[in-house]
Amino acid sequence: MPLSNSYRVAIVGGGNAGISLAARLRRAGTTDIGVIEPAESHFYQPLWTLVGGGCAQAAQSRRSEASVMPRGVGWIKDHAQELDPGAQTVTTRSGTSVL
Ligand SMILES: Cc1cc2nc3c(=O)[nH]c(=O)nc-3n(C[C@H](O)[C@H](O)[C@H](O)COP(=O)(O)OP(=O)(O)OC[C@H]3O[C@@H](n4cnc5c(N)ncnc54)[C@H](O)[C@@H]3O)c2cc1C
Repeated sequence: MPLSNSYRVAIVGGGNAGISLAARLRRAGTTDIGVIEPAESHFYQPLWTLVGGGCAQAAQSRRSEASVMPRGVGWIKDHAQELDPGAQTVTTRSGTSVL
């Protein structure tokens, strides 16, 4: 899916919450979704309890962000910097306006 600066739904953060929401919206039929996430890696934090307890390796909690991004969802690799609810825009650190 080509990246666009205009989405029906823009999600800030591609962590567990953002990725889950994007996947659920896709399953519910929403097709025009963008996730603003600067990191190349995604971490499944609940596993860290087992890492602390010596039952798992920290590296097991890491996935590439690309591998967890739901198919058909746009990935804006940038930091969200400013949200304007009135204008329904998110401005990223690089100055891109996501509508
Ligand atoms: C040790 C530990 C054990 C846990 N155990 C459990 C458990 O057993 N059960 C449970 O339900 N929960 C558990 N949790 C909590 C659960 O992991 C978190 O609630 C969940 O990961 C939060 O998801 P999130 O998407 O809000 O945040 P995160 O997964 O932290 O994702 C936030 C994302 O936002 C991105 N981001 C940050 N700033 C910006 C920006 N300016 N613009 C764009 N993106 C940005 C980050 O790069 C990151 O990818 C645990 C947490 C920890 C630390």
